[in-house]
Formats: sequence, C-alpha cells, structure tokens
Amino acid sequence: MSHLRFKEVEVAFNRTPVKVEIPKEAPSQYFAKYVFNRKKMYEYLPKSTYDALIHAIDNKEPLNRELANDVAAGMKQWALDNGVTHYTHWFHPLTDGTAEKHDSFIEHDGKGGVMEEFSGKLLMQQEPDASSFPNGGIRNTFEARGYSAWDISSPAFIHDNTLCIPTIFIAYSGESLDYKTPLLRALNSVDKAGTAVAQLFDPNVKHVLSYLGWEQEYFLVDEALYAARPDLAMTGRTLLGHESAKNQQLEDHYFGAIPMRVEEFMLDLEMEAHRLGIPVKTRHNEVAPNQFELAPVYEETNLANDHNLLLMSVMAQVARRHHFRVLLHEKPFAGINGSGKHNNWSLGTDTGTMLFKPGKNAEENLQFMTFVSCVMSAVHKYNGLLKASIASATNAHRLGANEAPPAIISMFLGSQLSKVIDSLVSDDKADSLNFNAKEELNLKVSQIPEILLDNTDRNRTSPFAFTGNRFEFRAVGSSANCASAMIALNAAVAEQLFEFRTAVDALVAGGMEQSDAILKQVKVFLKQSRDIHFDGNGYSDEWKAEAAQRGLDCETSVPKIFDAYLEPKTVEMFKKAGVFNDVELEARNEVKWEIYTKKVQIEARVFGDLALNHVIPCATRYMSILLDNVYKIKNLFPKEQGEAIAAQDLAMIEKMSEHMQFIKDKVNEMVENRKAANRIECMRERAIAYHDTIVPLLDEIRYHVDKLELMVDDEMWPLPKYRELLFIR
Ligand code: ADP
Ligand code: MG
Repeated sequence: MSHLRFKEVEVAFNRTPVKVEIPKEAPSQYFAKYVFNRKKMYEYLPKSTYDALIHAIDNKEPLNRELANDVAAGMKQWALDNGVTHYTHWFHPLTDGTAEKHDSFIEHDGKGGVMEEFSGKLLMQQEPDASSFPNGGIRNTFEARGYSAWDISSPAFIHDNTLCIPTIFIAYSGESLDYKTPLLRALNSVDKAGTAVAQLFDPNVKHVLSYLGWEQEYFLVDEALYAARPDLAMTGRTLLGHESAKNQQLEDHYFGAIPMRVEEFMLDLEMEAHRLGIPVKTRHNEVAPNQFELAPVYEETNLANDHNLLLMSVMAQVARRHHFRVLLHEKPFAGINGSGKHNNWSLGTDTGTMLFKPGKNAEENLQFMTFVSCVMSAVHKYNGLLKASIASATNAHRLGANEAPPAIISMFLGSQLSKVIDSLVSDDKADSLNFNAKEELNLKVSQIPEILLDNTDRNRTSPFAFTGNRFEFRAVGSSANCASAMIALNAAVAEQLFEFRTAVDALVAGGMEQSDAILKQVKVFLKQSRDIHFDGNGYSDEWKAEAAQRGLDCETSVPKIFDAYLEPKTVEMFKKAGVFNDVELEARNEVKWEIYTKKVQIEARVFGDLALNHVIPCATRYMSILLDNVYKIKNLFPKEQGEAIAAQDLAMIEKMSEHMQFIKDKVNEMVENRKAANRIECMRERAIAYHDTIVPLLDEIRYHVDKLELMVDDEMWPLPKYRELLFIR
C-alpha cells in the first residue's frame, strides 16, 4: 500500500550530501567566465569594432549590418573556443520564465562538408515560430510572425553549451510580446525624465540609471518526496497536507545553521552563478523550514532582471544535481511563510550620485527630497497599478494572508524621514512670497544624513519601504519576472519626474528662484501623496479600514486587481512614457486573465484527482477496517459491553464518512462550476468566475482532506506528509 511513501522518506532522509569540488582559483578569477563582457569583447574584436560596439551600447544606438557581422564573428570565435555548438535567442515571453530555441552553428560549406556559421544577421534578429506563446490576441497563427532582436545592453553568455543572446521579442506590427521590451522602454523613460530633474542640480548629468537588487526566496524538497506529490509536481504547491506539529513556531530555522546537503547545493549554485557573471553574495535560511534566500549585489535593472531569470533556471538544474527540487511558488505549504522576491530599487546618475541617498548638506538633501517626493507621488497615484504588477494566481496566496505583503500598497518611510517630511509640509511658508528655500532647508533637512544611516526601524509588514538609500518593493512574488514590477514602477516614477520638472520650469519662468521653485514643488508632491505614507502594522484590520478611507486600492480579487492596467490614467501614463499602447495593454490583460484561469483550473483538476483517487480510496479502506473491527467486537462481546467498546470507532466512522461525503459533493460542485466558468467567453469574466467559484472550494475541500489525514492510519496514507517534506536531514 503506502509503503512506497515510507521508501521515499527513507531515501530522502538517508541521502548523503553531493560534495562540490571547490575550484583552486578565487571567484574573481572565474567570475563571468561564460559572459561575452567588455573584457572578452576587447580580446575577440578588432579594436575599431570594439570601440564602435561600446559606443553603441553606452549611447543606446542601434548596430549597423557591417558592425553586427564583425561582432558576430568575434562572438562566434569566443563561443567555439569554449566548445559551444549551438546558439539561441533568449527571451522573456509573457509566461514566467524564459524561452529559447537552439540552432547549431553548422551550415553547408558548398563542398559537401559543413562549416560553423554565425552572421551579424543571425546575431541581430531571428523569427522564432512563437505563435504558441501567449499574446492576448495581438498575433495569432494566421498573422505575421514576430521576431526577436538582440538587446545590446545585456551581454551574451554561454549556458548549457549554447551561446545565449538576450533579445526582445516583438510582433511585426511593433507590439511587444515579452517583458524585456517594455522594461527597456520604461527604463528609457525614467532616464529621460530623471535626467531632466537631476540637471536642475548638476548640469553635467547625462543619464539616470535604474538599479535593482533582488532577494530570491525559495524552498527545497527532496526529489523522491517531490515525485510522490503530484500536486507539487503539477502546480508547484501542496494542495493538501495537514500542518506539521512542529513548523516555524520555534523560529529556529531563520539564520540557523544550513544543513550540509543544502550548503553543498548553495555552493554549487553560487559558483555556477559567478561563472555566468551573476554577482550573488548573500545566502541564508529563511523563516520557514526548508526555506532559503539568495541575493546578489545590485545591478542596472535590465541586467539584474536577466540575471534573476537566468538564476531561476540555473537553480532548477543545480538542485537536480543535489537530488532536490527547488520550489519557486509563492506559497508551497499552507500554515508557514511563503516566498517573495524583494525588489531593492534605486535611481542614480551617470555621474555617480545615488539619488535616494540623503546628502551631506542642504542642497544635496533638496535633490534627495525631490526624488523621494516623486516616488511618493508615483506610488500614491499608481498604488493600484503597482499591486496589479505583482498580482498573480500564485502570489494571491501571500497577498493579504497575514504575511508580507498586505494586499494594500502603502509606503514605509521610517521615523526620521517621516519627521522631515512632516516638518516640510506642516507650514505653508513656500506659498508666501518671501521665503528662502536655502534657509528653510538648512533648518529642516540638512541633518538628514546621520540620522538615516541608522536605519534600524524597518517595518517588515510594509509592501514598499524606504531603507536608507533605496526603496524595497517587497510584494513581488518569488516566481515572478521582476520586470512586471519594474516596468510599472519606473514608468510611474518617470511620469512624476516629468511633471516635477515641468512645474519647476513654469515657476522659474514666472520669476521664482530655482531652489525656491524646487522646494515648493517638493512640498506640493509630498502633500498630495501623504495618504500613501503608513508606518504602522500593515496586517491590522484597522489599517484596512483606514486605507479604504484614504482612497487606496483595497481590491483583493486578483482578476479585478488587473483592471488597474486599463484605468484611463494608467493607459495615458504608459502611452506618454512610450511603454505600452492601448492595444498592448489590453492584450496583456487578456494574457493575465487567461494565465490566472489556467493556473486555478490546473489546481482544481489535480486536486479533484487527488481527492477522489488518492484520499477517498485510502480513507475508505481504513474505514472498512474500522467497520470490520466494530462488527467483530459486537459479535464477540455481550451487547452492552460490545457497544461501549465499539463506540469510539463508530464515532470515528461517522466523522470520516461526513468528511468523505463533503469532499465528494464539493469536488462534483467544483467540476460543475468549472464547466459553467468555461462557457464564459470574456476572459476577464471567466477569471472572475474561477476566482469566485473555484478558489474557495479548493480551500473548503482541503480542510476536510486534511482532517482525514489526521484520522487515517499513518501507514496507509499515500502522500508524503508535511513533517516529511519540510525537514531536510
Ligand atoms: P536585506 O537586509 O534587505 O535582506 P540584503 O543586504 O540582503 O538586505 O540585500 C539587499 C539587496 O539590496 C542586495 O541585492 C543589495 O545589493 C541591494 N541594494 C543595496 N543598495 C542598493 C541600492 N542603492 N539600489 C538597489 N539595490 C541596492
Ligand atoms: Mg531586503
């Protein structure tokens, strides 16, 4: 019977760590070994080609055909020197994860043999047959093909013996079919708007760059146990399973000693990441058992995001070498913490100023407050959109479920910055004619630096927090493509920066001193966006009530949260930023609703199967043992004594059959609801139907399944239990 489960547990518990060989060289020696970075470019390209390529990268200019051919030749040689046989355009379709189609370098040489061929054309552009990628109706199989084109700001790399070329993926009609294209557009927009504002303080600034440092949380499960849990394998999370008696209540996992098997895995992963040029730096246990975190040093947002996506696929591979499966799902286990991916985000100038770092004097702090006020204004105006940018069927299990993050976006500023802001907005001197910005600033903001360095009052319940020199968007899901959040955030901030500069220009044109005008506009933004600021407990019910009063977006239904993308102000903002047009926005929402629906649909199917074909048969077998027992007792003992002895078993039988009946009824109901939902044509309405009529049933059925788990003989239970899944030896 379930002896299979015990075998799996035995295998998992007795597994010996897979030892990783530590290279003799220091990481700095093999770091980026498999990346065609500037060093390799210099080595493999003629000097003039190298100069032209670097110029194009730094100035975001396109490559011409001739230059592309020269670059391709050098890149090919580098790849061949590393034993590479294939190349691929590597892109980020609207599913989570990445896509690639490998082609070999081989071409006919016209003399009956073959030769390795890789031209500039193949480097620059390809036409993957990608009609089956989600596109929300922008292109279907009958329409023109899409194409992928090299993003020269992200270097090519070698992975799995394949030369990977990071590319954007767009339809011939120009609409983006991926995450990278709009991300590059959003970064471009925040660069332009940010530069215009930064130039108010330093005319030498030519670019404003966006930085991202992600912190990836994940779970590890032994592969034998994973294979015995169809729910984990098909949906990435456990759809059933009673809480383990011990889980995270002792808080003994966080920052605890890392189990040896896991440590070897981490070491292996880090070395692999370093060879790919991913600067991972930090690792530790997380709060939940078997939960861990990995974080790199921050990089420019586009590159950082490529690195996160690459890392997620490398993690899966390395985990297999160590007989683990990595779970990136936001909530693989009920009752313990889920996984997120904090997005540490900041802006900086090409002249080296970090724009969210408090300065040393009043003028630097005016710049600091300028950028902070624009972020506050953006997060306030687009709090619903930011929530939409991180919402998904899987992240829904974290959102609002009494763990980070709450389903309302607010901003944590900390006591010191809050004080500064309060004092800035508390009086209206700026509105009078005789005010001197410098004087006021000296009075109120010149002391920011020392105080903020001591950034101890972090609030873990806040979805968007200021942490000393950056903002941490903590609501991003562990399996998500960070681009989604980074597109919304950078584009929204770009709009506010643009508005800021426009307002200051108007004031200056009206005769105001520039620094007075800047301070005045800072105050306007701070006042307008005060309602987004909340340093209290984001999980409390009082906050929910207050947030609603403040007019913040409190929607909790994921399909409806997506509506924020189609609000007129959002459509307008994205259009102005050149990030999305309305066709793209509508198409993308179709995709979001469709993916939501499919994920819930798969869970419902898998769970229906588990409930009816695993749990019920097992419970029936156990019940029949009990019934048999009762029957024998009654036959053997005198009537009254027999009844007394059998009473508990009978009660158990009754309870079990109640649970079983409930499960059967509700699984049937779930099937009927699915049929009804599937008849709905409109994707949005269908997703809402899945949210309203299927998701609650998953939880209801689970409750009864988990009760049965506690009743049935442990030896008969077919699926590995939480206590087995969650504790790696
Ligand atoms: P935490 O205390 O939040 O766990 P960590 O040190 O683990 O912080 O990681 C925070 C992440 O933030 C790292 O990736 C780090 O490189 C990144 N980071 C630090 N400063 C900045 C910044 N100015 N902009 C963007 N990311 C940053
Ligand atoms: Mg953090």
